[in-house]
Amino acid sequence: MAYINDILKGTIEPLPDRISLERYVQESAFVTRYLSRVVKDKALVVYQVLFHLSWFETGKGEIIVPWARVGSFIRSEQGNIIDNHTTVKRRLPDLFEHKCIAVNRQRGNANEISVHLPSDIPACRELIDQEEREARVEPLTKDERDYYTDQGRRLVVLARDRHACVYCTTALTEENFVLDHLVPVAKGGTNRKRNLVAACDVCNRRRSDSDPVHFLRENYRQLISQEEFLRQKDYVEALLAESAGQSGKGEGEPPPYPISTT
Ligand SMILES: [Zn+2]
Repeated sequence: MAYINDILKGTIEPLPDRISLERYVQESAFVTRYLSRVVKDKALVVYQVLFHLSWFETGKGEIIVPWARVGSFIRSEQGNIIDNHTTVKRRLPDLFEHKCIAVNRQRGNANEISVHLPSDIPACRELIDQEEREARVEPLTKDERDYYTDQGRRLVVLARDRHACVYCTTALTEENFVLDHLVPVAKGGTNRKRNLVAACDVCNRRRSDSDPVHFLRENYRQLISQEEFLRQKDYVEALLAESAGQSGKGEGEPPPYPISTT
């Protein structure tokens, strides 16, 4: 009767002093994913047998087992069962050195062994932690939808908007442009391309969190012609509509930029 198997079959309830099913599944995955990069293949096979005999069979990391029994689970390259304690013993220094197992006591032929879980094996733990750290920074640096923080993508928005402030049509350069969120971040606006427009610093500060089309209308009275106002308004409204309609989808084609008729 094997502990993990019995839990799977529902014949026993998980015991509080033994490994949980979730942890077992996770640690098994760590054996192939991380421990395989720590110890040599032949040592890994011996560890896998010990892991099975302890954590799978009993739910605990302590077992008493003769090396020959460990070998009986392993087949040679010719397909013969190893069943030979010297073959198994040759793989042990690698496992001792990396603190994968410890022999607590010898009892005749058998050994009292502690089989450490992959997440408790120092070199393995290091690999797990390293991967977790990388997973945490990944969304920030690799999010293809972020056109606000990435310098190269900011220039894509500037080029899309023809190096001109969307609100007042002032010419912009790579040195003086800012990106303005159509829907402010405070109101749930994203850093996606269609929520960003190129703007001059003055418009960006004057607009603050006000409605972009209302703001354009203010500029119409002071800074831009009626023709410019209507053209820019269509453009901003098209971007807003695209944002609202496709928030869950990938980056679509931007609405055509208004071509100046003057
Ligand atoms: Zn402006």
